[in-house]
Amino acid sequence: MSGKGTYVFSPYERKVGRVSRDVWYKMLKIAHELDLNKGGIYDARSGAINLWVSPEDKPSDYIWEITKGALNYPREYLAGLYGQFVDENTVELYLEITNYARMDEARERFKRGEISWMEFKEIVDLAERGTDEEWRWTMEKVNWLIEQAKAESVFKEIVYCPFCGREFPELKLFNEFVEHIASHVKVKAVIMGGDGWLIETEKGTLTPEDYTKTIKG
Ligand SMILES: [Zn+2]
Repeated sequence: MSGKGTYVFSPYERKVGRVSRDVWYKMLKIAHELDLNKGGIYDARSGAINLWVSPEDKPSDYIWEITKGALNYPREYLAGLYGQFVDENTVELYLEITNYARMDEARERFKRGEISWMEFKEIVDLAERGTDEEWRWTMEKVNWLIEQAKAESVFKEIVYCPFCGREFPELKLFNEFVEHIASHVKVKAVIMGGDGWLIETEKGTLTPEDYTKTIKG
């Protein structure tokens, strides 16, 4: 089913996409900005984005009461989107649905003797499998996040050398860049300023404005 052979988030999880690392990080950032406690429906964690339903935004077959509980807004958990790195720059997205409201209702009905154990197990299975409408709604949210993240990724800031123009799109250690600058001019110090690293050279100080530019990614 999943092919990743490591951890299965849910027996009914589905692989729903494959994005670049950059897009995945942007998805986490957007989800964090649209956090459920700020009125959104997302809840970003490390490696995962949870999707919550609200009274205004939910699958059409979500018939249960949506309460606030300890949250700032009425929200109920419905799905989890997991990012799994397959290599340094590629993330596979897995989605799982768990309708806890459907499960809780079935448990209460079973306790009251209204449904049999078999019926209860069937409802729990449906809650973990998700309905077509739950998948439709959830995928709409996931695809929206992917599209937003891709739109934001079109432009990215990169570091470049103001002396020779060389670009450093995958810079991991700022020191690599400083070493390159030192091949052009004597570097006296590198200090953290309010807007980023300042590189003091014998020909003056380079600020982030001097060595970063926005490119179409
Ligand atoms: Zn250079």
